Amino acid sequence: MNKQVNTAQTILARLGLTADVLQGGNLTVTSPVDGAELAHLAETADMDAVIARAKVAFRDWRNVPAPRRGELVRLLGEELRAAKDDLGALVSLEAGKILSEGQGEVQEMIDICDFAVGQSRMLYGLTIASERPGHRMMETWHPVGPVGVISAFNFPVAVWSWNTALALICGNPVIWKPSEKAPLSALACQVIFERAVKRFGEDAPEGLSQVVIGGADVGAAMVASKDVPVISATGSTRMGRAVGPVVAERFGRSILELGGNNAMIVAPSADLDMAVRAIVFSAVGTAGQRCTSLRRLIVHESIRTELVAKLVKAYASLPVGSPLDPATLVGPLVDMDALKNMQSALAAARVQGGVVHGGEPVTEGVPAGGAYVRPAIVDMPEQSAIVQTETFAPILYVMGYSDLDQAIEMQNAVPQGLSSCIFTLNMREAERFVSDTGSDCGIANVNIGPSGAEIGGAFGGEKETGGGRESGSDAWKAYMRRQTNTMNFSDELPLAQGVKFDI
Ligand code: NAD
Repeated sequence: MNKQVNTAQTILARLGLTADVLQGGNLTVTSPVDGAELAHLAETADMDAVIARAKVAFRDWRNVPAPRRGELVRLLGEELRAAKDDLGALVSLEAGKILSEGQGEVQEMIDICDFAVGQSRMLYGLTIASERPGHRMMETWHPVGPVGVISAFNFPVAVWSWNTALALICGNPVIWKPSEKAPLSALACQVIFERAVKRFGEDAPEGLSQVVIGGADVGAAMVASKDVPVISATGSTRMGRAVGPVVAERFGRSILELGGNNAMIVAPSADLDMAVRAIVFSAVGTAGQRCTSLRRLIVHESIRTELVAKLVKAYASLPVGSPLDPATLVGPLVDMDALKNMQSALAAARVQGGVVHGGEPVTEGVPAGGAYVRPAIVDMPEQSAIVQTETFAPILYVMGYSDLDQAIEMQNAVPQGLSSCIFTLNMREAERFVSDTGSDCGIANVNIGPSGAEIGGAFGGEKETGGGRESGSDAWKAYMRRQTNTMNFSDELPLAQGVKFDI
């Protein structure tokens, strides 16, 4: 048994995952760190039984007052604080994130729990003036039913918590289908959730949170069920194209969080040192495998040569290696297929006129069996077809612009619409970028990079990113059904719009 597997098993045992759960099934879980096999899990065979349990749980949970439901989420936050080191390390082992990003992901879970606890006392509706005398109108929000969560490999725990913390305070049970590439993190979260339930007491029904294990077919079985009124699906646009129509066909609600192709505009007035730091973190963090990773740099021609030179220099010294080594900044790609995809994107970029700096596989000084690469910068003559495609790897395409209208047009001229940013010290440019005629993305930042969002804002994007919003602001409303109530406290029965219907 190699050292990696040994470490993994110690962490899994501390997280309460024992050999009987981890062995005996057909789904092989490997670590991107070195390709070691971590577990062989049994796939979920009976989705109907899972959904039936969630339906029963819903009947009880919706009767628990929302602030009391918040208490369960508060306890979940406490259990996550206690398990942060181990769960973060498991995320690093299973998804290949460097240690601080694994820990950061768990911190995000804690943050959304805190947010949801407060929100549990703020499920506000409006009071609306009625046009009829002696009448009052109001809006009330009600639990909606089981929420199905599908998550991607690259945020194996945070995405569940964004959805689950809110779904729970809104009165709904959750069924989670994690990525088949990162199911151990999900099983660990379930154990942590059950610890919180134990402390919470009997108000929490059985089946309030369930994990189902498997690939697309297991997800598809949940997506097809009319008994799961909300499907929150995070992953590629390809997945969203399959899931969205199925949910729509049965008049369910989908929250789609799909691929991104995020850009930064760097204006002549930009603080270039700050821009370089932001570019490097957002383009190579998580080895370019964040939905919000920076993939396109649209830089003013007057500073293009200088900026590219600074970036090439910064990239040359980036430590690539095991994500478990605290000195590493660039960990592995998720698997060898991801490496192949990166190499074919770079080949396509060359054919389309790109000049590639870096991008080669790294085999020296890294664990054998992992897909390690040097992040790439590609000088492009224009925003060609490959630039408009999301390649889930650390490739940064650089293009020039001469006036801001043109830069904004380029920023918006891709099918995806997740995150975007501008570096400028010019107030007019900054305001224009976040105005009606600026960025068309769900997230638009000024003087920070496109990745690393805080949980307080609504997260999501437009166009092929799917249109969903999760996490902060009023994203909780997607997990409830809205009801409009008109209350008549008069002894008359006037009709709206002055309609007469005397009998
Ligand atoms: P993926 O689409 O391959 O898989 C995501 C999840 O969808 C997995 O759990 C998978 O089993 C499931 N799935 C796939 N097809 C399905 C189907 N037909 N029915 C039901 N479930 C199905 O994505 P991935 O490789 O794990 O993750 C990378 C992608 O996710 C990138 O495109 C990235 O941009 C995107 N992503 C988006 C966000 C966001 O918030 N917008 C966040 C993280 C990742």
